[in-house]
Amino acid sequence: MSVPGTEQNPLRVAIVGAGPSGFYAAEALFKSGQVVRVDMIERLPAPFGLVRYGVAPDHPKLKEAIPVYDRIARGSGFCFVGNVTVGRDVSVEELRAAYHAVVFTCGAESDRRLGIPGEDLAGSYTATEFVGWYNGHPDYRDREFDLDQEAAVIIGQGNVAADVCRILAKTVDELKHTDITEYALEALSRSRVREIHVIGRRGPAQAKFTAKELRELGELEDADPVVDPAELELNPESLAEFEDRRGAGAKKNLEILRGFAARPPAGRSRRTYLRFLLSPVEIQGESHVQRVVFERNRLSGAPFEQSARGTGERVELDAGLVFRSIGYKGVPIPGLPFDPRQGIFPTLDSRIVDPDGRAIPGLYAAGWIKRGPTGIIGTNKPDSVATVASILADLPSLDSAPKPGVEALTGLLTTRGARVVCYEDWLAIDQEEVSRGAPKEKPREKFTTVVEMLGVLGSPRC
Ligand code: NAP
Repeated sequence: MSVPGTEQNPLRVAIVGAGPSGFYAAEALFKSGQVVRVDMIERLPAPFGLVRYGVAPDHPKLKEAIPVYDRIARGSGFCFVGNVTVGRDVSVEELRAAYHAVVFTCGAESDRRLGIPGEDLAGSYTATEFVGWYNGHPDYRDREFDLDQEAAVIIGQGNVAADVCRILAKTVDELKHTDITEYALEALSRSRVREIHVIGRRGPAQAKFTAKELRELGELEDADPVVDPAELELNPESLAEFEDRRGAGAKKNLEILRGFAARPPAGRSRRTYLRFLLSPVEIQGESHVQRVVFERNRLSGAPFEQSARGTGERVELDAGLVFRSIGYKGVPIPGLPFDPRQGIFPTLDSRIVDPDGRAIPGLYAAGWIKRGPTGIIGTNKPDSVATVASILADLPSLDSAPKPGVEALTGLLTTRGARVVCYEDWLAIDQEEVSRGAPKEKPREKFTTVVEMLGVLGSPRC
């Protein structure tokens, strides 16, 4: 048989995970000049992954990626296979048999741990749980957050920490016309949180916020940003970072932080404190978080390689709520190698490799499960293009027999009792969400359980 990619023998690719990197991989495959059929398998009935469940509700601009993904999904040669979990409903081996290539774009669904005493006390949460909760992710919609506390500590200074801070600091009026879930809006309307401390283990020049996200903390209706100017003093290595192109983002951040430090508080009812050079060493409390103990750090190392070193000085902060926002981590899938330290599938040029470092034929990865949780949504596009380049380079060595793709899966999944959600099904769910949102002047009111989503659908239509 001919090399896959022709009318007689289309290249059949399964993409596992319907987030940004999955859609960018599909797009690159369709633009490859080969005849390609893509089946995108997703464990939830809803596509779009992090754009639907990670992007903050008050960042609608970032959700403008969705119409782009929608166009890809409506194109010929694309099939959405929603509500199907790889490793449970269908195995990796079954996918390998049904496709020429399988690309894992399943992101980073779990969190890194701090590994300090008290991390699991009541009142200490991961940012993932909180973000998933306010965004209506079925895995997190039943979580409860103790918003009766006056002071909250957010550990970490990346954009997720900025999102969590904003959602805690915003008024109901600032959120009520977004797609935030109704239950989250209701709980936030009763929140007593007034002081929000966003803590970095390194200095202001190493904070990972992007300037836009940091600037927003100074533009909230009822929250004042607070920065101690003494904490903005830089060591020579950090100043040297500003001389380099790579330091441009940090330089902007510092200007914004200096602006916050110079600003007299406007008497708003909430305050967001940005603090630096503090590593959490213990979360204390009887049965609930009462305070966080930090060790003060100094920076050590050459420019761009500076790490936090403890000075031995302890700093205590009273707070009843902690959000750990220190980065995400991928989760393993049965039948695939996994690097537990980095939380990724080990790859070489996007090809998944076995423990001896040898590429496993037909298995690829893209996005956060390949490179770890870094970059913005657009970063995933070149990453997925690189993965597709490896698939195309491998075409002559892939199994050349025609592959059945989704046709082989449908039978398997039916006997296993899975209710597959196709793209038309999703469009029906989508339309219903939009209708539910309209009376509240919201872009949509999301369904937050799989049962609710399936309830919109009649008998299988695809
Ligand atoms: P991140 O940008 O990697 O930030 C993680 C933060 O946690 C850093 O400040 C890091 O400090 C800190 N940290 C890590 N381990 C720690 C420890 N043991 N103790 C104390 N602090 C620790 O991760 P993220 O905020 O989860 O964001 C993930 C990715 O999504 C990023 O690329 C982000 O830009 C992106 N994102 C973008 C948007 C947007 O575009 N609006 C929104 C959300 C997320 P160190 O620097 O010292 O390691």
